[in-house]
Amino acid sequence: MTTPNAVLSNLGAIDAAHHIHPFSDMKKLNAAGTRIIQRGEGSHIFDNHGKKYLDAFAGLWCVNIGYGRREIADAVFAQMNELPYYNCFFGTTTPPTTLLAEKIVAHAGPNINHVFFTNSGSEATDTWFRMARVYWAHLGKPTKTMVIGRRNGYHGSTVAGASLGGMKYMHEQGALPIEGIHHIGQPYWYAEGGDLTPAEFGLKVARELEAKIDELGEDNVAAFVAEPIQGAGGVIVPPETYWPEIKRICAARNILLVADEVICGFGRTGSWFGHQHFGFEPDLAPVAKGLSSGYLPVGGVLVSDRVAKVITSTDFNHGYTYSGHPVCAVAAIENLRILEEEKLVERVRDDIGPYFAKSWSSLLDHDMIGEAQSVGLMGGLQMAFDKKTRQRFEKPDDVGTWVRNKCIEAGLIMRATGDRMLASPPLIITHEEVDFMTSTLRTALDAAWKELK
Ligand SMILES: *Cc1c(COP(=O)(O)O)cnc(C)c1O
Repeated sequence: MTTPNAVLSNLGAIDAAHHIHPFSDMKKLNAAGTRIIQRGEGSHIFDNHGKKYLDAFAGLWCVNIGYGRREIADAVFAQMNELPYYNCFFGTTTPPTTLLAEKIVAHAGPNINHVFFTNSGSEATDTWFRMARVYWAHLGKPTKTMVIGRRNGYHGSTVAGASLGGMKYMHEQGALPIEGIHHIGQPYWYAEGGDLTPAEFGLKVARELEAKIDELGEDNVAAFVAEPIQGAGGVIVPPETYWPEIKRICAARNILLVADEVICGFGRTGSWFGHQHFGFEPDLAPVAKGLSSGYLPVGGVLVSDRVAKVITSTDFNHGYTYSGHPVCAVAAIENLRILEEEKLVERVRDDIGPYFAKSWSSLLDHDMIGEAQSVGLMGGLQMAFDKKTRQRFEKPDDVGTWVRNKCIEAGLIMRATGDRMLASPPLIITHEEVDFMTSTLRTALDAAWKELK
């Protein structure tokens, strides 16, 4: 949409008057003024003053193929004219819906052959949450209803999503978590590993799952959910001992393993899915974000044969008006076609991922940087007050916000979670753009170190 200049110059005031933003303190936001993003091209976005930013966050972890892809706009336009909407409720489907399901499972493991469509990652969470309970009920184990998540995990913002996530500041609002949801620790070695090696710590936190299942009773637990790499929690890459132990425990205690692939899916880790990177197969896997590169809202749950066999044997009383929306499906199909034809997942694995890792970890020589983790094009950079002792700043949130704002001033969009800087750029980002990201970040860190030390 081309907004007339007269309207644009007044947009901040209109926004302050009428628009409540997600996850925002509106009083503070309106005092500071909102940033208006008007245009995108490749890895860059432009605000209403024409200022250019490198978007090292791919929107919100999602614009994997970059901005400004005409192919998607054209395909969406054609589908809008042919059939803008039809539902999948009463024994019907549309061609793009069905073809998208086929295209998604082609990239999943041999035991994943079904998809249930949603419009977002949060809805995908609500979907698998119900599906897991229904699965056990159909198998004659109706007491297996509890679900275990992790502290500092993120699974969306609906009631089930916020409950399963382990964000304290979300639980504090709206009387969450709901009943039947429990949490164990996270594999965040830098902050919580103490004197253990990362490998020892990985095993220790994985075994919290075993202890929690035994405390609740195996007959009462339906599933465990985790992101292969915690995203919103700070791009926390688990020690390599972690996932094999989780896999072992879920199998030994007969509970479903749910991998939240909303960020890790569709190439971000250099594999099609994060669980493939770590070498395990989940029973259920919610997806969204990179599925359509954010061009239109679409998500889903990948369902393994184990669960599909049970769920498809009788009624599953669940669905959304827009489950399998044909226009969103077309956008996703085109997005997957681009990922495939341009070999972007392979590019992340073999070329830009390793380049990013090298550039990212070059910041480790900075006095303020204690750890630089990355997998594919997902990076978490740990800031520290004293990197020798892993002592952190007194007000971690302030440090992150300070550095992030400095980067934005310099034309680089990054995110901060507490005292970790997060990057998740489009999969098409160039080597030169990665260099710009790292050098801009270094300049911001230099300034922060002077200011905050
Ligand atoms: C973003 C996210 C979600 C929620 O997806 P929405 O589309 O915002 O509802 C769920 N899980 C993870 C891991 C996410 O990063």
